[in-house]
Amino acid sequence: MLLTPADIGAEIYLNNTTVRGLDPGLRDIFVACDGVGTGADPSRQRHRIRKTSTSEYYQLSEFKSAAIKRAKHDRANVDAHRLISNVPSTRTCNWDQFNEVLRYIFRNFEAIKGYYTTGLKKLKFHNYRNEQKALTEMCKRLFTGSRKYQEGNPDIQQAHLKKWKPLAPRDHASEAERPIVIVFGSARFGGLRGNVSSPTKIFRTALLNYIKSTRRNQPNSRNYAVIIDEYFTSQICPRCHTRSTSNQRDNSNMVIHPVLNCQTCNTRWNRDYTASLKLRSIFLYMAANENNRPEEFQPK
Ligand SMILES: [Zn+2]
Repeated sequence: MLLTPADIGAEIYLNNTTVRGLDPGLRDIFVACDGVGTGADPSRQRHRIRKTSTSEYYQLSEFKSAAIKRAKHDRANVDAHRLISNVPSTRTCNWDQFNEVLRYIFRNFEAIKGYYTTGLKKLKFHNYRNEQKALTEMCKRLFTGSRKYQEGNPDIQQAHLKKWKPLAPRDHASEAERPIVIVFGSARFGGLRGNVSSPTKIFRTALLNYIKSTRRNQPNSRNYAVIIDEYFTSQICPRCHTRSTSNQRDNSNMVIHPVLNCQTCNTRWNRDYTASLKLRSIFLYMAANENNRPEEFQPK
């Protein structure tokens, strides 16, 4: 069972906690920001942004090499593969036809069985293991100890200080000691944002399991996840707090979906970043205000 924001606020000291807003999506499985670098000057607030794209996920789980191995297996068992792809459909209400399908399967049973047992079992196990490894790495990116955001990873460059740019997202030395809360956005209605793709669903389940298992294995760890409605998270501008963002359009007036533009303060935003920033601030508000959402994010 998940705790509510107020429960978490009562259990840990949020000022000494890394709180990450996480926006799940189609192109990126997640984009997450934290409060590190948000100082006194609101126009200079910088977050560390961590993300994993869908193609990164497939790369991590070695999806391509699995497809190649599968094709190799099919080539090595070409007769059995042909037999299997020629199995007639069992979706029929015609009894004779259904009988015919069963007869076909039993007639070729040995070949079909051979196809699924020789090597394929091992292959499936390998794929499963690679996927679990990928999901664990992705979970670690939100906590500590990932390969991508480890300290000393030369791929992470410190961003220029004078411009508004996200901070380098690497793990800080004290990070592992601090509680970490992941504020997972959940889409409620239709449209593109509501269209949760399957890697996102797989990842959400993996994340909840990851937290459960770290709790079991390290009773002192303070990792939390909370799921918060994404209502209005990309429509309200994080800088001037008005509901006046719209899609950026290019020269030929085509909508650029990932970019938002605030009509009031004329700031351009990355849609996923804004959503994750807002999720984070909604969580902090709810934790301090008995789980009530801020006025401007309440469904009308
Ligand atoms: Zn604005």
